[in-house]
Amino acid sequence: MNFTEFNLNSELMEGIAAMGYEKPSPIQELAIPLALKGFDLIACAQTGTGKTAAFLLPLLHQIMLNKKHDSNIHALIIAPTRELAIQIDRQLEGFAYFTGVSSIAVYGGGSGNDFEIEKKAIKTGAQVIIATPGRLLSHINLGYVDFSKLNFLVMDEADRMLDMGFMPDIQRIIRQLPDKKQTLMFSATMPSEIRALAKKILHNHQEINLAVSKPAENVLQAAYIVYDSQKIALIESLITDRDLPLVLIFSATKSGVKEIESALKKRKMNVQAIHSDLEQDQREQVLNNFRNRKIQILVATDIVSRGIDVDNISLVINYNVPGDAEDYVHRVGRTARAEKTGLAITFINEKEMGKFHRIEEFIQDTVRKLPLPAELGDGPSKDQHHDRSHSKSRNFRPKGKNNFRRPSTPKA
Ligand code: ADP
Ligand code: MG
Repeated sequence: MNFTEFNLNSELMEGIAAMGYEKPSPIQELAIPLALKGFDLIACAQTGTGKTAAFLLPLLHQIMLNKKHDSNIHALIIAPTRELAIQIDRQLEGFAYFTGVSSIAVYGGGSGNDFEIEKKAIKTGAQVIIATPGRLLSHINLGYVDFSKLNFLVMDEADRMLDMGFMPDIQRIIRQLPDKKQTLMFSATMPSEIRALAKKILHNHQEINLAVSKPAENVLQAAYIVYDSQKIALIESLITDRDLPLVLIFSATKSGVKEIESALKKRKMNVQAIHSDLEQDQREQVLNNFRNRKIQILVATDIVSRGIDVDNISLVINYNVPGDAEDYVHRVGRTARAEKTGLAITFINEKEMGKFHRIEEFIQDTVRKLPLPAELGDGPSKDQHHDRSHSKSRNFRPKGKNNFRRPSTPKA
């Protein structure tokens, strides 16, 4: 299939070509026609498979078709983090380059001046707003946000937006929007109780489910059973002398992230950390340094576990087992984007074996446990582990090698 078959607006087609997109991905093939027909959608597809364009293209097409260059708010896209809102806005600007459709990313943390810039854009004509919920509510509460002409609501990372942390804000926002609008929900995961909730918000909706809640096929997964005290040395041995462009290390807490950063710095590694104690401009700077490869290793909280698209992350390390299986799927999905391959390694300590086993059940896969490098000494005994001989290895294909030696580097 080709993008021409969607019969999209010609200026939009120029933007698609300029972005270097040649063929639609599977989720784009399925979601774009349904969105163009006006259906509400719950669309689930694996990480890194092009969900952003799957909602941006129909949305931009409809704005071009009906409204062109007025100064009303036609679409609202909600995302869970500032960094993701910024990223979606950049991608929109790329596609919309030749269309003249205007947009603004509205997210918290910046200076008072940033707030004024957002306010002006909201009042004078951003056709698409990409927002984090809290910041959008700050503007809504000041009374000048006019959603009366809104046609589209998009929730990216929809299951996150509808979970308990965000739901009250989302409900407040939805109350401000016209009833008659098209709502599109996208995510790589969609727990059933959240899906039920989602359906209450949607009208006349369609669902697309491409391998929900599974890591993308091209993420090679592995794990080490390891004591906390061995983890820094293990990171060093995994990274040193290997040709790894970018490495992303997740830790559960801010304090954990800071400790890992300083331990790796002491070992002269090229590392920075991102977490919510940083000022917003520092957060953006760190992420840019990583995108531009000024730093090799980014240590992060779950701020960057959802949606963030950085080319060439060849290795994701879970410093500890993620809190739930959805988090695992999203974290490992920061590698192997857009058909590349990547490696995701999880460190499991002696207390986390049961938790990791539950993640394996959820993703219906047994993740290969690798032996620790000899110089680290013994790790926790595997006998502490459940007997899992009954669970079959389904997706894991070690590509002909019996033992993991070095991660494959993605194609440039
Ligand atoms: P998802 O939201 O599904 O995790 P993204 O929308 O972030 O994935 O897309 C992942 C990467 O793939 C991005 O860098 C994006 O530009 C690229 N991409 C998406 N669709 C296409 C396509 N049809 N052709 C080429 N690259 C694409
Ligand atoms: Mg996404």
